[in-house]
Parts: sequence; structure tokens; C-alpha cells
Amino acid sequence: MQSPLHGQMMDMPLLISSFMTHAARHFPGIEIVSRRHEGDLHRYTYRDAEVRMRQMASALERRGIEMGERVATLAWNGYRHMEAYYAVGGKGSIVHTINPRLHPDQIAWIVNHAEDSMLCFDLSFLPIVESIAPRCPSVKHWVAMCDPDHMPRSAIPNLLCFESLLAEGDPRWQWPEFDERSAVGLCYTSGTTGHPKGALYAHRSTVLHAYAASLPDAMRLSARDVVLPVVPMFHVNAWGIPYAAPLVGAKLVFPGAHLDGKSLYELFEGEGVTFSAGVPTVWQGLLAYVKDHLCKFSTFRRTVIGGSACPPAMIETFRDFYSVEVIHAWGMTELSPLGTLAQLQSRHARLSVMQQQRLLEKQGHVVYGIDMKIVDDQNRDLPWDGTSFGNLMVRGHWVINSYYRNEGGNPLVRDAQGRSWFPTGDVATIDPDGYMQITDRTKDVIKSGGEWISSIDLENLAVAHPAVVQAAVIGIPHPKWDERPLLIVVKRRGADLTREDLLRYYQGKVAKWWIPDDVQFVDSIPLGATGKILKTRLREVFADYRFAHSGH
Ligand code: ADP
Repeated sequence: MQSPLHGQMMDMPLLISSFMTHAARHFPGIEIVSRRHEGDLHRYTYRDAEVRMRQMASALERRGIEMGERVATLAWNGYRHMEAYYAVGGKGSIVHTINPRLHPDQIAWIVNHAEDSMLCFDLSFLPIVESIAPRCPSVKHWVAMCDPDHMPRSAIPNLLCFESLLAEGDPRWQWPEFDERSAVGLCYTSGTTGHPKGALYAHRSTVLHAYAASLPDAMRLSARDVVLPVVPMFHVNAWGIPYAAPLVGAKLVFPGAHLDGKSLYELFEGEGVTFSAGVPTVWQGLLAYVKDHLCKFSTFRRTVIGGSACPPAMIETFRDFYSVEVIHAWGMTELSPLGTLAQLQSRHARLSVMQQQRLLEKQGHVVYGIDMKIVDDQNRDLPWDGTSFGNLMVRGHWVINSYYRNEGGNPLVRDAQGRSWFPTGDVATIDPDGYMQITDRTKDVIKSGGEWISSIDLENLAVAHPAVVQAAVIGIPHPKWDERPLLIVVKRRGADLTREDLLRYYQGKVAKWWIPDDVQFVDSIPLGATGKILKTRLREVFADYRFAHSGH
């Protein structure tokens, strides 16, 4: 075996602390602005932030938080949360972001599973912490993310104040160098697919993901941007934005707990936000506000929308009424999360506006670092013809290898060449240009007479109807066809809309056998902890429902 000739280049480990040392040195005056629990706006610069992050890291070390130990957060997007990301991760410990919208029992389960030794929380989550503290023996310190004046009166044992803890640290402390494969973050899947399982991110994977996320065909981030992540920092690291923003030197704006349309709009305008990112449901609130108040955006130019399928009508509204470009993206917790994003390429310049729109509605093209394919149930490759759909498989630098503590065993599937692929649980098509489109989740697809019906396609069509606010489609058992689609709809207030109107609306837009068998009107559709439609809950609610004409 010949030994390779090594390149003679500096060998510096890819560590997340380098994002902040870079930003503090080369973008020292760029601001991080946060709406706080107290209601005011806090602002400081990358230079100030980096000092506080080192000081906090030193304080954590003095409190005995070791490398590899887990420090949990239950917090909104804000500067202290960002400080926790870097202080904990930068010193070699692991920041474990927890979704506060989960049930407290689930949160306690996750804290115990991760064996977190410290938990930092925003004051709005005090009731959750009070409820779980007696059940979480591994947590040695509970840290309220506030200053001493706002410390709550509480019987929580070992309650610390974030600012007092930070003051225990030494601002001269320096970031250590260690193996880039060390873990930096832990995030549990939101559990829409069963028991939550942890994805344990490495420094190396996180740095590579942030590079890729910034690329022009990804989020197109730069030092010209003012970035407001609406996507929470507890939802897959706010899609990597807290890492990518200092990498490119973008100004950061954090909305805190205030995610309603009015608060967001005021922050967008007040801080000159150019770029944002979030799940479709949060944009519904913002779009309703700007429509009702006849507002326009003066600086907002593009947004990444993902996490669940972005309805084409939303892409059109943003473009046609507000000149905001929507970049539809697909990803998942197990992918850190970015996998694909939909933007046009030079070869698409001559397509008609309609054809371009169809491409932009897809979940998009991979970024370098991720590879994908679709396979049938026997793991055989399916063609990239834009119509064959199959199980979506991925591999890449920021895809999990196994779950935290090897929960669930080896998730990967090997191909004939011995390469490992991660089965995403999504069903998709890939077109000849390499654009992937999610047809459904494996378990949501409606199996009718041996053929598959995409619940996402039917939902997208329904929400394009002007009288529909929200729509979900689930499969209902059927004696002849196995399953048939049921459309569940929230009507716009005061709208006069009947079952027949909606079913007629589908005619000519989908194959006849795709048209739902019935419509049920409801007051609201249950959403999960990350703002996605909770189909599991809907299936429970409609467990006894049967179509009138199906013979039951
Ligand atoms: P969970 O898997 O627990 O719901 P994630 O946040 O990791 O939590 O969700 C990933 C899943 O969300 C994907 O596997 C896919 O089903 C869905 N998803 C993400 N982005 C999109 C998108 N743009 N269109 C359709 N589905 C999406």
C-alpha cells in the first residue's frame, strides 16, 4: 500500500468557535438585535458578543461542566440563547436545544434521556421548568436567562441567574482547539414519527453545513444581509443561521417570543431585515397582517420556507404582492437540516413563467455535500423522470450516521457498492434536472387501489382556494380501495363554502380518482411542536369516520 503525499497546508480543526472569532475580528461593529422577554430591544455587536461567549464558557468550566457534557436550552431566539450555543459548544460541551412546545412529560423524558447536567431557560418557560425539575435528577443547575433584577421567586433547587453566572467567568479565557469530530449539538426529532430520537451534530458537520447554507444557490447569505430567523433556535439550530450569519458577517435580528404578524412586521421594518426563514404556518400570520393593514416591505427581499410543503399560493403571494422571493427548501433534523433548495439555474432562463413557477414549487436541488436518490421498496434505484416516486435516500457530510446512544439501531441502508444511505421516510420524485419534489411522508401517502395519492398535492390545491385558510388530507379506510382521501378544512371567517364547491374545485386539476371522497369543516387543525400539521392527531379524531357511500 502506497502512503499518500500529504498536502502542505495548515491543519486547523473545523470548530464552531471560529465563526465568532472571525466575526469579532472582521465584522466587529455588526449588530445582533434581540427582542427580549422584558419587551425592549437589546442590541450589541459581534465583538461584544464574542467576549461574553468566552466569559460564559469560562464560567461553565469553573462550575465543572466538562467536555462532552450536555447543557440544555429552553429558549426563544435571542442573544443569550446564541451566547449559550457558542459558550457551551465552543468549549467542547454539547448544547441540547429543546422544543418548549412539547408536553412537559416529553421534555422531562428528553432531558433524562440526554442526561443534561445544566438547563438554561427563558422566563416564559418557568412553569415548564417548575413542573419538570423534580423529575430530572441529572440537572445540577437550572439557569434563568435574565439579569438579577428579573430573577423569579421559585422553589427550583440550584437556580442560577444567567448574568450572575456569566460574571463568574474570565473574559480573557481563550477558545480551546480539539478534534473537529467532537459533538457540539444535540437535537431530538420532533416525534411526529414516534419516540423522539437524538441527532448529535459534530463541529465538523456543523461548519460544513454553515458553509453550504450560505452559498448563492442555498440561502445566498452575505455581509449585505440583515437576517431574522423566525425558525426557532430549538428547531434544528434555526436551520444553521446562528452559525452561518457570523460566517458571512450578516446582521442578526432575533424576534424572541413575539412571532405574531404585527410584531414581526415592525421588527422587519425597524431593523431593515432583508432575509428570513421559517415554516409555512408562521408566514400565514405575517401575510394576513400585511394584507389587512395594506403594508409593504421596504427591505425584505427573500425568505427560505421549509419544514413542511410551502403552498404554491404562498410563493405567488410573496412574489406578486410583496416582491419577496421564496426559496422553498427541504430538510430534516437528521440532516442538520438542509438537504435541497429550489432556485432556478441558467438553463431555466428561457422557460415560461409558469414552468419556472412549477420548478420553484418543488423542494429543490441538492447543495454540495448532500447526495440523494429515490428507490423502490426493494431498494432498487428509480429513474429521475419527474414522475416515478419512491423512498428518498440521502448521504452526506451533515447526515446522521446513527442516533444518539444508538437508539433504534443502525438507521442506514447499504447499496451494492457498499455505500451507506439514510432513508428519510419521505416519498419523492426527482426530475431530469435533479429537482426533488416531496410527494408525501411514507406514512401519510394515501394508498388507493394499489396506487398512491399525494396528500400534499391535495392540500396545496385546497389552500389555493380563496375561502380556505388551512387544509389537511388523511386516508380513511375504504372496503374497496383500502384507503380514500378525506379533506379537512378550516374556512375563512364568514366565507360561504360548501363541500360540493370544494370537490368541484378539484375537477380538472387532479386525476379524477385523486379527488377526495368527502370534506369535513373544522374550527382548527392541530399543529405539532414545530408548526406542522399533526396528522397523527387528525387520524385519532377521525378514527371512527367512514364515508357515507363506502358501505360501512
Ligand atoms: P420530524 O421528522 O420529527 O417531523 P423534522 O423537523 O426533522 O421533524 O421534519 C423533517 C420532515 O419534514 C421531512 O422528512 C419532511 O417530511 C418534512 N419536510 C421538511 N421540509 C419540507 C418541505 N419543504 N416540503 C415537504 N415536507 C417537508
